[in-house]
This record gives sequence, structure tokens and C-alpha cells, in this order.
Amino acid sequence: MKAEKIWMDGKMVDWDKAQVHVCTHAFHYGSGVFEGIRAYETENGTAVFRLKEHIERLFNSLKIFKMDISFSKEEFRQAIKDTIKVNKLKSCYIRPLVYRGYNDLSLNPFNCPVCCTIAVWEWGAYLGEEALAQGIRTKISSYARSSINSTSQKAKICGNYVNSIFAKMEAIEAGLDEAILLDTRGFVTEGSGENLFWIRNGVIYTTPTATVLEGITRDSIIKIAKDMGYQVQEKYICRDELYISDEVFFSGTAAEVTPVREIDNYQISEGKRGPVTENIQRKFFAIAKGEEEKYLSWLDYI
Ligand code: PMP
Repeated sequence: MKAEKIWMDGKMVDWDKAQVHVCTHAFHYGSGVFEGIRAYETENGTAVFRLKEHIERLFNSLKIFKMDISFSKEEFRQAIKDTIKVNKLKSCYIRPLVYRGYNDLSLNPFNCPVCCTIAVWEWGAYLGEEALAQGIRTKISSYARSSINSTSQKAKICGNYVNSIFAKMEAIEAGLDEAILLDTRGFVTEGSGENLFWIRNGVIYTTPTATVLEGITRDSIIKIAKDMGYQVQEKYICRDELYISDEVFFSGTAAEVTPVREIDNYQISEGKRGPVTENIQRKFFAIAKGEEEKYLSWLDYI
């Protein structure tokens, strides 16, 4: 993982020189917010997928975590495009991070400066190319998704991801690809970094957003699926409903549309990517690559 330049508070800095002090507040306590965005190569050049919505979510995260920055949404949007351009990348993953910097290390964050960075790099399929075609193996995590009153699930707060890392480590050590977390009541929420969908009798379901991140891929899939004529519903379910679903898949900027073929040693249907998942996946990639006229407004060409 490497590119040439990283944007730091308005300046392009060499990748290897993009460093921070070890007493940076966020480094100790996770006091930052971030985004994960993708840009795809299209026939008309590189296009960022739903950049406006990602910027909107970043600014909402900043509001929730009480962080003020001097850059406007438009400036941030331009900075993202400039960073892709300067790195000469045709397609990439984009990681804006706004964090509490170095001043003191008390738990009061307000005395620490707010610093902004944007890194971009080439990143293929998050769970592997094979995962997109064959599906992945998962387990229900023994770690519950952080309680809704612990922090905020609406904000992409760095520290929230310790919860995801525990779930991910457990899954990897069990020889699996990904974890599915339940909430503290036992209802299904999402993966360590992905929203979850399942299909039963032709209806597509996903979890309500109260207990999960408001995924932008999730929102895109709901719109795409409805446009394709599928019925889509939000529903709280227990783990066993997943075991008997016809299809299950994850959605996320990194994971894109990744089929789930196994949960807790239960094979999902035939243990491979299902037909509805495949249809939606194909449509999603066509849209991201600028091949669908109807959804061109989702693309921000650089
Ligand atoms: N849930 C969590 C916990 C995530 O980290 C992500 C990745 N940002 C998602 C869901 C999917 O969100 P999006 O589709 O906006 O990437």
C-alpha cells in the first residue's frame, strides 16, 4: 500500500513524510473520524462514487464528535479530486481522516488541534477477487456491536473500530473471512466494516440504520434493487433467520457487494453466490464504472 502524495491540511506531502507525533491525541484514544470512498475507472476517466454523500457523512461525523475544521465541504471535495490527480491513479480507495492532534493527552479533546488528511491508494477487492465470485465464510461474533448508547453508530469514529477489530480477529483466527455482529439485544446488525443484506422468498431485507452505520453502498443497493423491481424491507432479525435465508451478502465501499456463502458452519442455500446477489452485484459495478446512464449523477469525474 503506497502512493506518491498525501494531502495534509491543504498541502501535498510525500507519502513517506506524512507523519504525526506519537503523542497525537487520536493515536492514543481514537479521537478522529474518517471516510472510506472509492474511485473507479470509467470510459470518460476516473470517477468518484457518491462523493457528495461521503462528504456529507464526514461532516455529520465531525458534528457528532464536535470537531471543527476550516475547510468547507466543497474544498474537501476538491482536495480529494486533487489528491487522486496528483497520484495519477485511475482507480483507488480514498481515506479522508480528520483527527485530534498533538497538544495534551487528557481525555478532554478540545485543547487538541483538529488535523485533516487524505490518503489514496490502489486497493482491489477488499475480501479478495474470489470472494466477489464465490462468496465468503463468516461467523456470528461473540462480541456484540457497541451499544447504541456507548458512542455513535452514525459517526465513523476511529475508536468505534476497536469493536470491529475484535470481531475481525476472532473470525480470522477461526479460519473465516468476516464476522457478523449482533447488537446487545441479540439482533443482527452488520459486518466489521460492511452492511448486511439477506433474501427470503424473493424479498431483499437489510437491518434498520439505528444500530448500524448508514452505509452509502447500502443506500445505493436499496435504490438499485427497487429500480430493478425487487421489494426491499428493513427488519430486525435473530441469527437463525440468516441461516435459512436464500441468499446473504455484504455491502460496503471496500467490500462492494460480497456474497456470504456460510455462517456458523451453516451453508447458505447452495453455498455459492446466489442469483439475486449476482444481478445486483453486476448492476452495482456497471453503475460505478459509468456504464449506466440513469445513475451518472452518482459519479463525480475528477
Ligand atoms: N458498516 C461499517 C461498520 C463500516 O465501517 C462500513 C464501511 N464504511 C459500512 C458499514 C459500509 O458503509 P459504506 O457503504 O458507506 O462504505
